[in-house]
Amino acid sequence: MSLQERYSRQTLFPPIGEAGQKKLLNSFVVIVGTGALGTVLANNMVRAGIGRVRIIDRDFIEASNLQRQILFDEDDVKEGLPKAVAAERKLRKINSDIVIEGIVKDVNFSNIEELIEGANLVLDGSDNLEIRYLVNDACHKLGIPWIYGACVGSSGMTFNILPGKGPCLRCVLGDPVGGGMIHTCDTIGVISPIVNIIASIQSAEALKYLVGDPKLSSDMVFVDVWNNAYERVNLEGARRPHCLTCGRGNYEFLEAKTGTRTVFLCGRNAYQVMPFLEKKIDFTEVAARLEKLGRVEYNRFLLKFITGDYEIVLFNDGRAIIKGAQDEGIAKGLYAKYIGS
Ligand SMILES: [Zn+2]
Repeated sequence: MSLQERYSRQTLFPPIGEAGQKKLLNSFVVIVGTGALGTVLANNMVRAGIGRVRIIDRDFIEASNLQRQILFDEDDVKEGLPKAVAAERKLRKINSDIVIEGIVKDVNFSNIEELIEGANLVLDGSDNLEIRYLVNDACHKLGIPWIYGACVGSSGMTFNILPGKGPCLRCVLGDPVGGGMIHTCDTIGVISPIVNIIASIQSAEALKYLVGDPKLSSDMVFVDVWNNAYERVNLEGARRPHCLTCGRGNYEFLEAKTGTRTVFLCGRNAYQVMPFLEKKIDFTEVAARLEKLGRVEYNRFLLKFITGDYEIVLFNDGRAIIKGAQDEGIAKGLYAKYIGS
């Protein structure tokens, strides 16, 4: 398949053209999160011919994801695959001419700089504010533009963040309350159309930025697709000179050396527990031990252990996602009991 043919509809579009397509093919985009927004973003970036696309996600696929996470199907649920692995597989079938990197990892203060270094642009496909404030810190520090996106229920919001040129996330949303952990999506739900709309606006802005188009938006866009609301708020004057992140260069989230090791996963009703140091897990050994205590299934990427009302999914870096635990303490206790401390 010739590149000319593959991207012909895009090169015929004057604001992109042959020159813009070359820029896209030379670009490196990192997508943080491969869930609802992330799968739409990745699909758009890969089809558009971004030369290198890196997708990062810490979770595995469940049946409840299929309603809106466009890169996954029933076979992926049956196989019990991590999202980043299944997405990479699907994306390679869509476009084998570019570089696609699926990374199964929890993005946190210890690895984010390494994960986004060298990127031309970072796209927000995450599902919680704590990660977004962390992305904000890291992108400002490294001077990488990023595009915020968030959805809940039938509404969503997006805006571009260009370090040194406009407001950052903290300028717009203010200082995070209670350490930045805000749980919303698990109680309200989310419908697929708003996810597609917000991620598609993010994708269009990404293309504009990467080809250097002056029509790049400086507005915050808000859409509520159920209640027929479409609003734009101009953010040009929204930069706060005393902003902790972009005004003072104090990277609260990035420098949180004691960052959360146990986090509540928004939308999953589950906790993620991480060992203090990453460790290599031998699933055969763990399975042999746990088989006496409950039901165990595993593949190359993860091990699922079900005992009583609890479900523990263990990744090979030692990280676990625990369902059924009523609070953080119980989640930690289960980890210590079954996986080890
Ligand atoms: Zn700021």
